[in-house]
Amino acid sequence: MNNNIVVLKFGGTSVATPDRIRQVAELVLKKQQKGQKVVVVVSARAKMTDALIEDARSFSSDPAPREMDMLLTSGERISSALLSIALNALGAAAISLTGSQAGIITDDDHTNARIIEIRPARVVQALADDRIVVVSGFQGVSFKKEVTTLGRGGSDISAVALASALGAQVCEIYSDVDGVYAADPNVVRDPAKISELSYQEMQELAEAGAKVLHPKSVEFAKVKGTIIHAKSTFVADGEGTIIKNLEGRIKPRVVGVASEQKVILARCRDEGHAGVIARLVDSLAEANVKVKQISFSEVGDGVTSGNFIIAEKENYHIESVVPRLEASFPGTLHVSRHLGAISLIGAGINDRYDFLRDCLRLLRQEGLGPASLHTSSFRISALVPRDRLDHAVNLLYEHFLRSETKNDAQS
Ligand code: ADP
Ligand code: ASP
Ligand code: MG
Repeated sequence: MNNNIVVLKFGGTSVATPDRIRQVAELVLKKQQKGQKVVVVVSARAKMTDALIEDARSFSSDPAPREMDMLLTSGERISSALLSIALNALGAAAISLTGSQAGIITDDDHTNARIIEIRPARVVQALADDRIVVVSGFQGVSFKKEVTTLGRGGSDISAVALASALGAQVCEIYSDVDGVYAADPNVVRDPAKISELSYQEMQELAEAGAKVLHPKSVEFAKVKGTIIHAKSTFVADGEGTIIKNLEGRIKPRVVGVASEQKVILARCRDEGHAGVIARLVDSLAEANVKVKQISFSEVGDGVTSGNFIIAEKENYHIESVVPRLEASFPGTLHVSRHLGAISLIGAGINDRYDFLRDCLRLLRQEGLGPASLHTSSFRISALVPRDRLDHAVNLLYEHFLRSETKNDAQS
């Protein structure tokens, strides 16, 4: 491990305005002045990616994924060049690199590519030349030399994957919140900050919608035990949250509640083994739809019922796909777009029934369904009406997490 390299990642709000870019540049310089070799990964400026997607949609509801990648990568490129210019203006020697120039090699799954290898020769050389390296996040290049993106929020993946490849001990993820909280601080008033989380707990929270960190970034941290330190750009000396290997947690605990607002539930009914579910899977694959969860079971009389849960933000083209699917499966496919997903997260959460029972009781008492529910060893997830999702989050937070005595969320 090279303890001297640190990777810092700054999200969209941290580079939103010239003043903020200057603030980031000063923070980065301080790290270098402490004798560290600094790699910075930046996101597109706040709202830029959304604006670019809207621009594309003004021409087509189903734009070619390759062109989307060409378009969206430009946002991160602007940020890296601006930060590099700001650093140089402060007297530093900085160089900006695209994901491709930084050696981030991906598969060719446009708009949702997976990093398969990092060849950071240019980064290593620039660090050896005492430069600060500013890498455009969220992007890579395929073996076919095509520009790719890593999925929404993907700059976190770029940062942690680079940190792991460079042997950095810590990857610091800076955003507008000072770490990971037991619930989204923009939804719940004054939630508890979590000082330490295991990789698995973080991954589950993120997969359930806590977007403060991308779930895939955690996979790269696990490989070499890279510590992720989530903190705020705007809170000087904030402690943030440490995400690392935490061994031997025995007592079941609830660490947090997370939600994903825009999910689509596609319910499918197959009567008389007509193969409807298999055909729906084929259609989703053909339309390149990313599905979060699939489950199906026989419900009697030769009828099989299937549930497909799809996150809208992972599918830029969903508006054109849904009507096509509905037309292809008349009478057998029912699509609901009024639901959101809420999850309670914690190691061993389903070792006993208490958490599930309380969860069901609370949701039912408030008339919140749920429309569907599933459990895993780390999670209880339910679909509830989207317009009452924030209410549901507050409800579960108050019951399971508000009182410190109920569990050790602030461990
Ligand atoms: P960035 O643009 O810096 O990548 P994001 O917007 O992706 O930042 O992530 C930070 C946001 O994550 C916060 O503003 C907050 O609303 C949201 N968030 C959701 N769940 C949590 C949580 N459990 N802890 C902290 N932040 C959360
Ligand atoms: N700019 C991209 C997005 O908004 C990637 C990121 O912010 O990490 O999804
Ligand atoms: Mg983010």
